[in-house]
Amino acid sequence: MMPRLVVVGNGMAGVACVEQILKHAPKFEITIFGDETHVNYNRILLSSVLAGEKAANEIQLNGLEWYEKHGIELRLGVRITDVAAERKTVTGDDGSITSFNKLLIATGSTPLIPPMDGVKKEGVFVFQRL
Ligand SMILES: Cc1cc2nc3c(=O)[nH]c(=O)nc-3n(C[C@H](O)[C@H](O)[C@H](O)COP(=O)(O)OP(=O)(O)OC[C@H]3O[C@@H](n4cnc5c(N)ncnc54)[C@H](O)[C@@H]3O)c2cc1C
Repeated sequence: MMPRLVVVGNGMAGVACVEQILKHAPKFEITIFGDETHVNYNRILLSSVLAGEKAANEIQLNGLEWYEKHGIELRLGVRITDVAAERKTVTGDDGSITSFNKLLIATGSTPLIPPMDGVKKEGVFVFQRL
């Protein structure tokens, strides 16, 4: 049985890394967790979506068929809340526990929101996700 690579974060860095692993050493069963509900997309082009120049599906990087073609188990909408390094498991917010041999954490960043009046008002949000 092939070792399992678990990737936490279905973003630009995590998936780019998986693309290279597939190119050079396709020797893992791969599971990717992403807490967003979309397949991998080009976050840099979010501005074009906001401007109405592109539709959301036009900034997609890898469609579901890419994950299927490479036998990647994609767990969308699941946030990893705990890593048990010694047991080599990750826990999802859906209650799932997944074992890994190798773990890649590519969770990106959390925006800093300056302490200004009004930031907690309804309709005020950071511009980071589809
Ligand atoms: C509007 C905008 C414009 C940008 N323009 C540029 C640009 O012009 N040039 C440039 O170089 N960069 C730009 N960037 C920055 C660039 O998008 C980021 O540097 C890049 O996306 C980082 O990739 P990443 O994989 O590290 O993180 P991300 O792409 O953020 O991916 C991380 C993923 O992990 C998920 N995640 C986080 N925690 C968990 C968890 N616990 N469990 C499961 N999933 C989790 C997140 O939801 C996210 O989907 C821009 C960013 C934005 C928002």
